Parts: sequence; C-alpha cells; structure tokens
Amino acid sequence: MPTYEYECDQCNHRFEQQQSIKDEALEKCPACGGNVRRIVSGGSGFILKSPGATNRNAGKSCSLEETGRTCCGATSRCSEPHCGS
Ligand SMILES: [Zn+2]
Repeated sequence: MPTYEYECDQCNHRFEQQQSIKDEALEKCPACGGNVRRIVSGGSGFILKSPGATNRNAGKSCSLEETGRTCCGATSRCSEPHCGS
C-alpha cells in the first residue's frame, strides 16, 4: 500500500498515511482538525515507500536529465526501469 504524505495548512503538521490508491485523500489534520493537503512531490521519491513498489528514483539517476534521452534511447521516461537488468 502506498504511503502518502500530508501537510496541514493550519499548523503545518506533517504526517504520513498508508492508503489504498482507491481511498479518498484525507482532509482533516489529526492534530488540529484543519485542512490538510496531500503533498505531491515530483522527484524526491519519498511518497511511494512501500516495498515492492517501483521506485523511479532508486539508484543512479537516469541519463534523461542530462542528455535528453534515457539509457534505452527513449525521449521520455519509462514507467519501468529497463536499464541494467
Ligand atoms: Zn493541523
């Protein structure tokens, strides 16, 4: 199950919540009851933490950022890493 990270707009409380992809996003801060928003971070890779989930940021970074092409020659990032396997 993926772990999502939330931050409260009101008290800046940060917490993680394990949720099914089908579950609705949380709306209330467990600390103060204020509105929380799900932190969608592009690139840091710490939202999907569940073991077995594909971690696109694991290991060496893709050459896409540097050369505009992935190591397998595509111009967009693959959904699954093929490289080195
Ligand atoms: Zn709060």
